[in-house]
Amino acid sequence: MDRRDAAALDETSPLRELRDRFSLPEGVVYLDGNSLGALPTGVAARLAAAVQDEWGRGLIRSWNDAEWIDLPARVGDRIAPLIGAAPGDVHVGDSTSISLFKTMAAALRARPERRVLVLEPSTFPTDGYVAHGVAALTGAEIRWCDPADPLAAVDDDVALLSLTHVDFRTGAMFDLPAITAAARARGALVQWDLCHSAGAVEVDLTAAGADLAVGCTYKYLNGGPGSPAYTWVHPRLQAELENPLPGWMGHAQPFAMSRDYAPRDGVARFATGTPPVLALTALDAAMEVFEGVDQAVLREVSLSLTSLFLRLLDERLGDRIDVVTPREAERRGSQVSFRHPDSYGIVAALIARGVIGDWRDPDIARFGFAPLYVRHVDVHDAVEHLVAVLDAEEHLDPAHRRRNAVT
Ligand SMILES: *Cc1c(COP(=O)(O)O)cnc(C)c1O
Repeated sequence: MDRRDAAALDETSPLRELRDRFSLPEGVVYLDGNSLGALPTGVAARLAAAVQDEWGRGLIRSWNDAEWIDLPARVGDRIAPLIGAAPGDVHVGDSTSISLFKTMAAALRARPERRVLVLEPSTFPTDGYVAHGVAALTGAEIRWCDPADPLAAVDDDVALLSLTHVDFRTGAMFDLPAITAAARARGALVQWDLCHSAGAVEVDLTAAGADLAVGCTYKYLNGGPGSPAYTWVHPRLQAELENPLPGWMGHAQPFAMSRDYAPRDGVARFATGTPPVLALTALDAAMEVFEGVDQAVLREVSLSLTSLFLRLLDERLGDRIDVVTPREAERRGSQVSFRHPDSYGIVAALIARGVIGDWRDPDIARFGFAPLYVRHVDVHDAVEHLVAVLDAEEHLDPAHRRRNAVT
């Protein structure tokens, strides 16, 4: 597979026209959209208009005139088709960590006769930290499952099984429908953290019959740094679950300013405070890129990119690196990771060459393939740069061994 073959794959890609809707710097191969998505072209102008016109001129009137108040639901409706949710069932507004706190605490309160919250030990750390906070407040017990068999930990004591769909280190993906069905059959509620899947991997929460889901929007959904996360609650549970952080924005009539709390109907009761209007505006504009894009097509392109990367790693580097991402397509998300004792230096040397991936403790080099804007030629070029780095031992350069605060 030479560069021309890769270019031929790009020419027939069903998403080939969407890359132009991102503003990517010249000379950069961006393989970190699983950490911070690229900037869609329409966002800057939309944000400028929101600041100058809606805020600057409209002032307080824009809550109504610019429909700021509806942004959490409107953006939720844009996310819904990417996760198999119905319109109206997705709320957007807090960080993933806060959203997890609310859903975990709500699930435990809804199943008082069951006191165990099951997590996998390889989950993104914040999920575990939040779960411990929830456990400390509710008296629940945390049970760590074996990621190879999460169901073995689910018995009659389990209120909630909360799993991350795609592992942030290895890119390994759980069988969401099968695990959901089996855990629900044992009476547990099931929550999925979709941070590393939605927008690149097919997700159908409704078909799977899951109970809860959260996910962030600054990774594959390109909402910008710190853009707010989403929460989905299955309609059968919406009336039953209580927001453990009730606030006026989840009140049925916030401007009645009544002393007593009465929750809104639906998932909107998970709102707490005033929505982050500028961040939601950027996200709303960013999500336009997904209009009319089928999940199956995103997945097809993503798999084509990760398959090519894996194949070229094998062909060009063999056992000089240790690939930790599952080879079976149905078991991986949209990233490929490998281990190497000098992985930090490798990633830094690649970044110096304009190939941006990232590094995860202790020795993982990680590359994300956002199907909307990564091309097969980028995959090809990234591997050629990687071979050059290793051949010239650029990764051993002391300049590439200094750790940044954010890796
Ligand atoms: C990125 C990520 C988060 C981020 O949480 P924030 O509170 O939005 O910073 C949480 N969970 C998982 C699995 C992630 O990948």
